[in-house]
Amino acid sequence: MNTGMRFSDTARRKPSWTIERGKQMAQSSTIEWTEATWNPWHGCHKVSPGCAHCYMYRDKKRYGQDPSIVVRSKTSFDAPRRWKSPKMIFTCSWSDFFVSEADEWRREAWQVIRDTPQHTYQILTKRPERILEHLPDGWPLHNVWLGVSVENPRFYWRIESLNQIPASVRFLSLEPMLSSMAGLPLEGISWVVVGGESGPRCRPMKAEWVREIQRQCRKAKAAFFFKQWGGPRKDVTGRILDGKTWNAMPVPLLTA
Ligand code: SF4
Repeated sequence: MNTGMRFSDTARRKPSWTIERGKQMAQSSTIEWTEATWNPWHGCHKVSPGCAHCYMYRDKKRYGQDPSIVVRSKTSFDAPRRWKSPKMIFTCSWSDFFVSEADEWRREAWQVIRDTPQHTYQILTKRPERILEHLPDGWPLHNVWLGVSVENPRFYWRIESLNQIPASVRFLSLEPMLSSMAGLPLEGISWVVVGGESGPRCRPMKAEWVREIQRQCRKAKAAFFFKQWGGPRKDVTGRILDGKTWNAMPVPLLTA
């Protein structure tokens, strides 16, 4: 589930990344709302307008790979086992944890998650209709947060699907935010991340849309995290909203 992180940017700023034939293994991440990324598999296929400018597609093509083919990682499937200090881990930043092609590997990935209770796994999907059928025994796990991406009101159904699943944290990623989202259903949601699209063909996000989400979060008592304005140069547009950064994090319902 790509959220606008550019492979080239990351490689330039963060020497802790290892690049191997276009695949990525990350011990740290520049994504504002996490600390590390883990990709037990990579590759995906597009399901909605939010996928239009998926960076994973662009970067894999740059390496001569077909981004629509989902492949198991040869080198980083077990990576979290090697990370001893606790990390917040965005899981499947170059795929979708619930993509059907990964069904045969997911049980093993759940085992990695179970065996590393020191970490917190942030699993973000555009396929919430597949979650219920693919949860591990003993669900909910205290160290897994579940979220859905929603780019416009047509996809509010993803929130309804998510709300059917018990989870320590349920969250939304409104990135790329492609329209106003008045009437966002926030019951059962404890964290909302908002971001504009970045890159050369980015679609604009209006400040009034962001403030509207902020107001709705305040009313619903959901933590509000403003990730970025986006635009052709996200390093220039930054992430200040009304004079400050907004970095609220949720309080998990479950503990170890
Ligand atoms: S679901 Fe995520 S990873 Fe898959 S194509 Fe869409 S944006 Fe890319």
